[in-house]
Amino acid sequence: MPAAAPVKSFQPRIELNPAPVGVDRRAEILKEPGFGRYFTDHMVLIDWDPENGWHDERVVPYGPLSLDPATAALHYAQEIFEGLKAYRHEDGSIKVFRPEQNAARFQRSAARLMLPELPIQWFLGSLDALLNVDEAWVPAGGEKALYLRPFMFASESFLGVRAARKVTYAVIASPVGGYFEGGTKPLAVWVAEEYSRAAPGGTGAAKCGGNYAGALLPLSEAAKHGCEQVVFLDAKERRLVEELGGMNLYFVFDDGQIVTPASDSILDGIIKNSLHEVAADLGYTVTERPFGIDEWTQGVASGRITEVFACGTAAVITPVGRLVWREGEVNSAPTGEAGPVTPTLRRALVDLQYGRAEDPRGWMRRINHS
Ligand SMILES: *Cc1c(COP(=O)(O)O)cnc(C)c1O
Repeated sequence: MPAAAPVKSFQPRIELNPAPVGVDRRAEILKEPGFGRYFTDHMVLIDWDPENGWHDERVVPYGPLSLDPATAALHYAQEIFEGLKAYRHEDGSIKVFRPEQNAARFQRSAARLMLPELPIQWFLGSLDALLNVDEAWVPAGGEKALYLRPFMFASESFLGVRAARKVTYAVIASPVGGYFEGGTKPLAVWVAEEYSRAAPGGTGAAKCGGNYAGALLPLSEAAKHGCEQVVFLDAKERRLVEELGGMNLYFVFDDGQIVTPASDSILDGIIKNSLHEVAADLGYTVTERPFGIDEWTQGVASGRITEVFACGTAAVITPVGRLVWREGEVNSAPTGEAGPVTPTLRRALVDLQYGRAEDPRGWMRRINHS
């Protein structure tokens, strides 16, 4: 086999937006950004094909992509994405939380979806390049941030079923406030008894759009039952708890133990992995093990489970209250407040992200200004 070609350095061409959003309008948007509704003035695009590898890296004005109707991703969902945030610290600097973890996970997702791996340095470089031109879009104050959405899709025009020979990588950015309307009000969650998110050997551990498409129907069922999120169970027996389909789940027991479900079809969350270390600093032990839905219902009913929460980049840590299924419900936060463990862990993570706490592990990465 020929030796792998050395990775080219990431040197994007930069084409500035001739008509960026005005300063006043941007200030108005940053005051109340919502989630994923507004986008910055620029985006990153990089092309890939087997002959040239990754090439033509560029920062260009944000705008529609022109796609051939036969674009493979539109038919066979060969697509993956990432989600991470850039935070403005009080000294004005901008930091991103563990982006190399997202870069590595993006490579793992790519491998599962037969997409080419983007070099870690290119992933990080693409975030830096976009943040450099759109720095003014990183909001200050509260729990606001600039959400970064790297994604990759099969852009070849071809209806045959095989891995695409033309792939596009892009990064867009959206200023965001809190993810849930109700702030840190405990979520009501619905148990999907008929639908699965992921199966053994499937794509559950990859961050791909297809997993989300399949979760929309159970999500609408949850909404009909007054719930905001879905609890997905293992596909085989529908007995073991997996995750919320976009957030990982945690159970706090009255003896101080914290348990999170272990499964091959759960997405390996970066907040989840970080939380285990932060929890250890605070004297809590987190155990990862198979966790039955019966343990949840009975644990809440008996009082052994004192708190339930979910974690992920978008909402950091969110308490879970009502667990609803066809035949009944239990509530681990009947007073509408969860604590004391959930808010303690939440504050520890948020303070770290916003630079108000020490960062002994060097998790916050300053963007490199060119
Ligand atoms: C992104 C995601 C999560 C959370 O991962 P973080 O890296 O912590 O944001 C959990 N589950 C699924 C299915 C996801 O796509």
